[in-house]
Amino acid sequence: MFWSGELIARTAPIRHRPAAERSPLADRAVAAYVGLAIGDALGATVEFMTPREIRAQYRIHADITGGGWLRLRAGQVTDDTTMALALGESILRHGAVDAQAAAEAFDAWMRAKPVDIGNTVRRNLITFRSTGQPEAPASEHDAGNGAAMRVLPVALACHGQPAAKTIAASRAQAHVTHHNAMSDAACETLIFMVQDFLAGRDALSVERERVIPLVERFPVFAWDQKHRDNPSGFVVDTLQAVFQSFFATETFEDCLIDVVNRGGDADTTGAIAGMLAGARYGLAEIPRRWLRGVDELTRVRCEKQAAALIALAGA
Ligand code: MN
Ligand code: MN
Repeated sequence: MFWSGELIARTAPIRHRPAAERSPLADRAVAAYVGLAIGDALGATVEFMTPREIRAQYRIHADITGGGWLRLRAGQVTDDTTMALALGESILRHGAVDAQAAAEAFDAWMRAKPVDIGNTVRRNLITFRSTGQPEAPASEHDAGNGAAMRVLPVALACHGQPAAKTIAASRAQAHVTHHNAMSDAACETLIFMVQDFLAGRDALSVERERVIPLVERFPVFAWDQKHRDNPSGFVVDTLQAVFQSFFATETFEDCLIDVVNRGGDADTTGAIAGMLAGARYGLAEIPRRWLRGVDELTRVRCEKQAAALIALAGA
């Protein structure tokens, strides 16, 4: 029965399996997924605010309190997390990343009236409904962060796979709504970064091998030029803010607080930074108040899906 299940899940204490039971790889995968949800829930409170407005209202925004322009419950997540979960479920159902399965999953997600939805996502899913074609037409304007915010299930499902296969999987999911070269470059960079951290790589080598080559291919992504406040939904703005916070801090907590207090598209910068920081630092480094603060059903779904996708990758 739905309600009894929900009640049990909501009242169950947080009980993480001892490290011995979960492999270091699975621990980092779970931390990346829970980190995504935490960053989304934390950032949504200050989405579309300026850093000055955030300072005036919160001094420093550092707790999961809900509210914001979406009037969220404390701990509630938004499209960044729920689209990732929808994509991950389609991958598990299908046994692989599949464009048609992803498009159908996103369409079902939209029909369920999500709390927020990006304009590009909506427009291209409506087109999918009429054409049945899961790949949106290429557009130089569709460079929003809507595909990049939901890449995590692809990173997990393709962990250990050849790069070419991972890139094809990334584009299959991304092009359902965002068929754009800058979005593709961002998605693929984020996926390879997550996979590097899952493998235990350090931040300096990941920066050298993933982020610097991105900037060489697309100089517009140069992220160390000026402090990126109020990052917009443009994927370049988003990644610049995330990279600045991520590489300038040395804990999960500092990274997320730094990035969401920049305001702008803060739920999405928070989600992406939380994903990267979770993969980098692991579950034990995520503050307890945030693990308890994020919606419990969502956290459990993220944990289970992360473990299942890593199991799929190893199969
Ligand atoms: Mn959102
Ligand atoms: Mn957002």
